[in-house]
Amino acid sequence: MNNDIEEILFDQAAIQESAQRLGRQITEDYAGRRPLVLSVLKGAYLWTADLIREIDLYVDLEFIKISSYHGGVASSNDIQLITDIRQDVSGRDVMILEDIVDTGQSLLFMEELLASRGASSIRVATLLDKKAGRKVDIKADYVGFDVRNEFVVGYGLDYKELYRNLPYVGILKKDIYS
Ligand code: 5GP
Ligand code: MG
Ligand code: MG
Repeated sequence: MNNDIEEILFDQAAIQESAQRLGRQITEDYAGRRPLVLSVLKGAYLWTADLIREIDLYVDLEFIKISSYHGGVASSNDIQLITDIRQDVSGRDVMILEDIVDTGQSLLFMEELLASRGASSIRVATLLDKKAGRKVDIKADYVGFDVRNEFVVGYGLDYKELYRNLPYVGILKKDIYS
């Protein structure tokens, strides 16, 4: 599996450091509040595990599952809600946890959904931000790392459901998918 990786970008130690940095910031920013952490499956599960342990607040944890990729290496704007949350978000401070923001379309979909349900604030903490991929005007509030416009896998991120268990984020060799 490791042989399929062109270059390691962020290893576990670097990711832990960024989780600590963002966790401190979030703890400060939400002092006195009880945010509802909304983790986006499947990609954000490892990042969620790391980041929430660095947040020193009472938080609720919920999971939502959406799909945008349909198995390839390019996002689509056909976003589907696969598994919804049961908890009422009206009046809540929602913190979306994402693995990566690329075109921004998944995030826009979720922000609109949460806003329509009456969330009182919505922020986003993403492990990776691929700003060059943006197609809609949307920003993440907390960013672990900026990443260049390459297809990356590992640390929760997949290609055809594989590589999620790599303990780092790396660039997938092009001959694996072309
Ligand atoms: P967006 O809607 O912002 O284009 O993409 C959001 C989702 O597409 C991410 O949550 C992630 O699941 C997937 N995605 C975007 N870029 C990459 C990438 O470089 N690698 C992988 N494995 N998934 C990506
Ligand atoms: Mg995702
Ligand atoms: Mg995927």
